[in-house]
Amino acid sequence: MSKTTGSPGGLTVRVSPRGASRLKDGHVWVYRSDIVSAEGVPAGSLVSVVDHRGQTLGSALYSSSSQIAIRLISHEPVADFPALLRQRIADAIAYRGPIIHDTNAFRIVFSEGDFLPGLIVDRYNDILSMQILTQAMDAETVREALISELTERLQPAAIVERVDPRVRQLEDLPPRPSGLVSGTKGSTIFTMNGIQFHFDALEGQKTGAFLDQRENYAAAAQYAHGEALDVFCYQGGFALRLAPRCSRVTGVDSSRPALEVADRNAALNHRDQSQPEIEWIEANAFDLLKDYASSGQRYDTIVLDPPAFAKTKRDLDAALRGYKELNLRALKMLRPGGILITCSCSYHVGQADFIEMLADAARDARRTLRLAEVRGQAKDHPILLNIPETAYLKCIAAIVSQ
Ligand code: SAH
Repeated sequence: MSKTTGSPGGLTVRVSPRGASRLKDGHVWVYRSDIVSAEGVPAGSLVSVVDHRGQTLGSALYSSSSQIAIRLISHEPVADFPALLRQRIADAIAYRGPIIHDTNAFRIVFSEGDFLPGLIVDRYNDILSMQILTQAMDAETVREALISELTERLQPAAIVERVDPRVRQLEDLPPRPSGLVSGTKGSTIFTMNGIQFHFDALEGQKTGAFLDQRENYAAAAQYAHGEALDVFCYQGGFALRLAPRCSRVTGVDSSRPALEVADRNAALNHRDQSQPEIEWIEANAFDLLKDYASSGQRYDTIVLDPPAFAKTKRDLDAALRGYKELNLRALKMLRPGGILITCSCSYHVGQADFIEMLADAARDARRTLRLAEVRGQAKDHPILLNIPETAYLKCIAAIVSQ
């Protein structure tokens, strides 16, 4: 008789000693290369994980196609999976109570960071935006439990699902369009640290905004002064927050749709005539910084928030060269006393790599930099210490002294 620990159906996946020690060390992933047997286990199943001696390690979600074959969901047997999901959602909402201030837009569920691997849920005022990233989370019974729990707890006007077609392909899931999964409301306005933003549930990058930078907007504003340049500005997250502190603000992005929303956001927030109008420039940031640096443009505040340059470990060197080029040019343009806010959202570029890159850039630009703050992602994107992949965003504030 098969043991029914973990999965009611008695499904078992056996992992190698390396896979087992990874789980014992507190990680929740086991790679396919560490799966010893998963015979007859259907895609997306809840399984019981055992080591090579048959000792049970916990319950996990199995993917038949991802390189991450197993994501541990509990150290205990799970008798009622939908009930566990509902509890985890309730816990995720409760966790945010004391850490969220001055915003009605924040991440409610951060996948592994909230013990719900494969699920992202973001709140934008009265609309929830959900992303499903694994086979197990895509199952119909799972979707029903998630949607009904989110609806009961938060009473949103609508829930939209944002589909990443590449993820579905990697998970061997059939294509599915993005769209509303409950309610009819497709757009709203959300408020973050006193700044208002338009939100269109089916437009924009990620689930709509870069919520992980929320606390960094406020931090950047503390240092901002004079003439400011927000490079990779998207819909104006930093620029709008800097405007009340600066005499001139320019935002740069290569995406015209993003800049159109940025301009509408600026209009929403421009109540005080003493604030500068923000100028939005559609350009490739690398070209623009090169031109501006060589033509002697000067600024007091520069924000660099590029997209992830290193999608895999192999890209690390190229990514660091990209970051260095941007940071070098920005440093050349900053006046003494100027502030650089420089970010990287590439997990594969570690904090130490990023700081070393910045030190190299400062040396090459012949500027002396003082490190004011080393920051990360907003607290609604919780970092699990034993799962390094949950920490990905770096945001450094540094002041040019000469
Ligand atoms: N700072 C933004 C988020 C930036 S995300 C915020 O806090 O909301 C990265 C942005 O870089 C995206 O808006 C993308 O359109 C833009 N981008 C990507 N490649 C670019 C390039 N080569 N030049 C300028 N912008 C680029």
